[in-house]
Amino acid sequence: MQTTLILLKPDTVERGLIGQVISRLENKGLTLVGLKMMQLDDAIINEHYDFLADKPFFPSIQSYMKRTPVVAMAVRGKNAVTTVRSLTGATNPSEALPGSIRGDFGLTIDGNIIHASDSEETAKTELNRFFGGKDIFDYTKMIEEIL
Ligand code: ATP
Ligand code: MG
Repeated sequence: MQTTLILLKPDTVERGLIGQVISRLENKGLTLVGLKMMQLDDAIINEHYDFLADKPFFPSIQSYMKRTPVVAMAVRGKNAVTTVRSLTGATNPSEALPGSIRGDFGLTIDGNIIHASDSEETAKTELNRFFGGKDIFDYTKMIEEIL
């Protein structure tokens, strides 16, 4: 079982798409084990996107990620990391396939709806970054015991 970190970015919050994106994850059978709203500050944004710090578009990422609070989620399931990345689709919504979250809800790279950890190792680091070991719950759904 894996747990991965998801952020619903400010365009998702502004456009009222939080519920629809969460439904996609739930419909797939993944389990939400952590869910909170957070106003990000420069420190956490700079840490999270440090690998992009020298890119010309970095200042616009910094202001975009602060525009509204984001929704941070811990999502658990078998192969959760790759499954969520596949549901998410390509980084640029214009290249993301229809049926994927970015393919269906996004138009340009400036607003690509969702962040999802890209490996199991990254997920551990990012879960720690956004949840700090708190407010992640371990529970079993009754349906999983029946199936
Ligand atoms: P994320 O990490 O947000 O899940 P990703 O793993 O698909 O996205 P990364 O390469 O990690 O893609 O890029 C991180 C984020 O930086 C992207 O989601 C996007 O918001 C932004 N970004 C990446 N490339 C560009 C670009 N060329 N122009 C503008 N923003 C970009
Ligand atoms: Mg990434």
